[in-house]
Amino acid sequence: MTSPYANVPAPAVAADAEPIIRIRGLNKWFGKFQALRDVSLDVRRGERIVICGPSGSGKSTLIRCLNRLETHESGTVVVDGVELDDSLKHIGAVRSEIGMVFQHFNLFPHLTVLENCTLAPIWVRKQPRAEAEATARKLLERVRIADQAGKYPGQLSGGQQQRVAIARSLCMAPRIMLFDEPTSALDPEMVKEVLDTMVALARDGMTMLCVTHEMGFARAVADRVIFMDRGEIVEEAPPGEFFARPKSERTQRFLEQIL
Ligand code: ADP
Ligand code: MG
Repeated sequence: MTSPYANVPAPAVAADAEPIIRIRGLNKWFGKFQALRDVSLDVRRGERIVICGPSGSGKSTLIRCLNRLETHESGTVVVDGVELDDSLKHIGAVRSEIGMVFQHFNLFPHLTVLENCTLAPIWVRKQPRAEAEATARKLLERVRIADQAGKYPGQLSGGQQQRVAIARSLCMAPRIMLFDEPTSALDPEMVKEVLDTMVALARDGMTMLCVTHEMGFARAVADRVIFMDRGEIVEEAPPGEFFARPKSERTQRFLEQIL
């Protein structure tokens, strides 16, 4: 399979640099059901990770644990030196570094594109409105949608809404971006415009964790592909190796189904 994307160069960080995300022995239950089993993962600054795996394997739960949208029962999650525990101060500090983009955009329908982008900077970061709007317009430009700033989400296509959601996240100047199947609710013709935006972000050096089954994107952008099954990380490898020589039988079976 060839990729529509030119390969994105590896991040310019030393392999031994302190990881920006350090997950150790993470376990998570929903009642009696164990959704994450002893997950450990280090992510270096500037690294791009693609997470794939069957439905229900714990991919969303894992990335939601990174900004405390889910709590974990045991193990540790440390983001840029701050451990995620019950401390609201710690949770606030970590959330201010992380942007998240969901499958279903989650834009505010009653606010314009520009207002969606400036709401949190103005009310959470206390930025002056003019400054927040200037930043928002710049980032809407970056996702190539500046001409839609005055429209409401319902007036935009799915692909455009998702690009607004990405711009909105970027307005909070995150150091890490989490994507949870950002293209799986889109009509096929809109997938590429959203992936192009993500590729551009990767080129700019953003640390990214992307849950996606877009394997062309994974090949071009990922430094590592992670395969999860039944709450575990079963396999992780650079994309070339992951696709050419999957080690576990579970990975092979999964790839046969999606490729
Ligand atoms: P994936 O994103 O890989 O499809 P999830 O992380 O969403 O998987 O879910 C992993 C498992 O945890 C699934 O079996 C799912 O049903 C279960 N699960 C997820 N969220 C909840 C919840 N809030 N309550 C109970 N079970 C949940
Ligand atoms: Mg999911």
